[in-house]
Amino acid sequence: MESPTPSRRPVIAGNWKMHRTVRESVELIRQLKPLVEASRHCDILVAPPFTALWSAARAAEGSPIAIAAQDLHWESQGAFTGEVSPGMVAEAGCRYAILGHSERRSLFGETSRAVSRKAEAALEAGLNPIVCLGEQLSERESGRTEEVVGGQFRQSLAGLTEDALSRTMIAYEPVWAIGTGRAATPEMAQGVHAFIRGLAAEVFSRQAAEQLPILYGGSVKPENVDGLMARADIDGALVGGASLKAESFAAIVNFQT
Ligand code: PEP
Repeated sequence: MESPTPSRRPVIAGNWKMHRTVRESVELIRQLKPLVEASRHCDILVAPPFTALWSAARAAEGSPIAIAAQDLHWESQGAFTGEVSPGMVAEAGCRYAILGHSERRSLFGETSRAVSRKAEAALEAGLNPIVCLGEQLSERESGRTEEVVGGQFRQSLAGLTEDALSRTMIAYEPVWAIGTGRAATPEMAQGVHAFIRGLAAEVFSRQAAEQLPILYGGSVKPENVDGLMARADIDGALVGGASLKAESFAAIVNFQT
C-alpha cells in the first residue's frame, strides 16, 4: 500500500543488545547528545541493557533521545526469577519496549503468543511496544516470507484494539540481514512493509494501517539508510551494530529527508 503523503513521523531506534555497561551507556549517550540535539525530524530512541536503563534515562534528559527496554515480562510482579516487569522499566525511564526480537525468538524460544502478552502488558504500563517480525533465510528462499511474517503479525498482535495499535510500532527485521552486513534492498524491504501495512488494514482498519509506523532492521548503516528511508512504507530503522558508536548512529538519525 503506497501512501503518497505519509504523515507518519520517522523513528530511528538503536538496539544495544548485551553491550555497554552502565558507565559505557552514559558515556555513549553523552557523546550522542550533541550530534542529535538539532535532529527534530524524527523520534530517536536507544535500548540499553536493563542494568543501564535508569542511568541512561537520566543521561538523556533534556535531549530528544528516548529510552527503550529490549524486552520485558507480561506479569507486573511475582515469582519469575530473572524477569523484569513493564512497570519496572517504565519507572526506570523507558517509554518504549522492543518485543519479539528474532534473537529472543530463536535463542530463547519466545513465541508470538508470548509477544502478544508482552505487548498488551507494555501498553497497560503506558509503554509503546515495538514488535519485531521477520523471516529466516530458508523461509525467504522457499517463498514463505509473507506466510511467516503474516503469521507473526496476526499472532503477536492478537487481541490488540485499534487504539492499542495506534501506540504500537512494527519492526520488520529479516533474520538473514541482522548482524550480517547484508541488508535487504530498499525494494525488498518496501515489498514486505507494504504487505504488513495491507495486513494491518485487513486485521484492524485502513486508517490504523496508514498510521502504523513500520521500521526496517537488518544491517542498517549510514551508507544505506537514505535509500531505505526514501521508500513509502519504510518509516524508520531499528539499528543494532551501528547504534553502538555515536557517530554512526547519529549519521543514521540524520538521514537525508
Ligand atoms: C538488530 O539487532 O535488531 C539489528 C538490526 O542488528 P544489525 O543492525 O546489527 O543488523
